[in-house]
Amino acid sequence: MERLALCSKLFYDIDVIEKHKRILELEKQLQPPEILFSSMKEWTDKYDLIYKNIKKVLYECIVDNAQEYHFMFSFGITPKQVVILEYVINKQLYELTGNIKWSEDITDQILLGLHAMFCGFINSNSWRLIYDTLGNIQLYDIVYNNIVHQLNHILKDVPQFKCIKCKKNYCYLKEICYECD
Ligand SMILES: [Zn+2]
Repeated sequence: MERLALCSKLFYDIDVIEKHKRILELEKQLQPPEILFSSMKEWTDKYDLIYKNIKKVLYECIVDNAQEYHFMFSFGITPKQVVILEYVINKQLYELTGNIKWSEDITDQILLGLHAMFCGFINSNSWRLIYDTLGNIQLYDIVYNNIVHQLNHILKDVPQFKCIKCKKNYCYLKEICYECD
């Protein structure tokens, strides 16, 4: 009996270790890839370009596309807009990090956040009022700001810089490490 209990405990311990390993793997997958930039300017230029590209495509599929804007009344964000946004966001993230899986997961996450916003509008019966009150530019602005808000939160952990003083330590969102600051 004692041996059986010992054996069960052993299997239980192995199971816990396996699960712990799996959790660490999953956490690692969700962690943003860290990319080394040579200066803050190099990062902000890249960052500006990402937003510029998303902004351009979004403007084209809401403001410049009367048909899709019209369909938004029924859908919130339309299936065609979702496909276009999925492509551009994923492309920007992949070009930044070279990480296929992370870029796809984050793109899904951002689109989910966008869907959630429109579901909120539609399910609370406010969508008709919002759509009728706002013009296409204001609607585009709401969608763009939703994406910016989500992306800002995600991208803040991506850039890394080598400290410009000691040239040894790495730092986030600034060019001088804590030791030299
Ligand atoms: Zn330093």
